[in-house]
Amino acid sequence: MRAFAKRPLRPVWERKELYDSVISLRRKELTYSQIIERVLQQRGVRLRKSHISDWVNGKHQPYGSTHEFEPIPSPELAYVVGVVKGDGSISVQKWSYRIRLRVIDKEFAEEFDRCVSKAIGSRRHTAKWVQKKLLWSVEASSVLLYRFLRQPFSRLKSVISHCRRCASGFLRGFFDSEASVSGRSLSVSNANLEVLRFAKRLLKTNGILTTGPRLVQRGGRAVVIKGKTYHANKNIYLLYVRTLSLQHYAQRVGFSVRRKQVALSLALAQGGRLASS
Ligand SMILES: [Zn+2]
Repeated sequence: MRAFAKRPLRPVWERKELYDSVISLRRKELTYSQIIERVLQQRGVRLRKSHISDWVNGKHQPYGSTHEFEPIPSPELAYVVGVVKGDGSISVQKWSYRIRLRVIDKEFAEEFDRCVSKAIGSRRHTAKWVQKKLLWSVEASSVLLYRFLRQPFSRLKSVISHCRRCASGFLRGFFDSEASVSGRSLSVSNANLEVLRFAKRLLKTNGILTTGPRLVQRGGRAVVIKGKTYHANKNIYLLYVRTLSLQHYAQRVGFSVRRKQVALSLALAQGGRLASS
């Protein structure tokens, strides 16, 4: 007969919710037995007295060993949101809540890690080369950041538009992921119209003018991106930064990805030549 595995830990947010209700019931001066009864009725979970007393006396926090995360607006957190709306991904595997980025530019992976680590208050992670995919990969684990990032975009807007620096952080993350510079044309492509429209608004408040978003690829067809063919299920939209705003873009947002920053500098130099000729 197979031995029973240890009871799995409750997901962190569930523990956090139990913790919050225990603390608030205690504030209403319920006894431990009354709290146990109430929680059992409301949530179908029977807590032990020792559990409650540990929480009430502050001996244990409900987070366990995961990093505590407060969604305090910061340029770093905004950058993470921008990247996750582009090349980044979040996923749950078993009990691991993963925030990951796989990209060709190492400095991009490192900048993403710097921002994630700062947002969750963890140590830095090492970017690893994935030979099979020919990509740099960096990943962090945080249930609270995962849950924050998984929210509908409408709820993330207040955090990323907190101030100019946060707005720039978001835009830089999004453009590091999704922008391409070709000649004097700087554009971002994405399937999420809401995110593109919001990026347009943030750019505008930074004095950066755009055209679009325009539908460039209808879903259901094959598309070629960076030499690879994908079957696109979604519509793809493009937002263009107007040439007259390239200088402002470079000053107020810019890129962490070196090759994109170089392409932008070339575009500006070209513009300078055109203007002076
Ligand atoms: Zn801010």
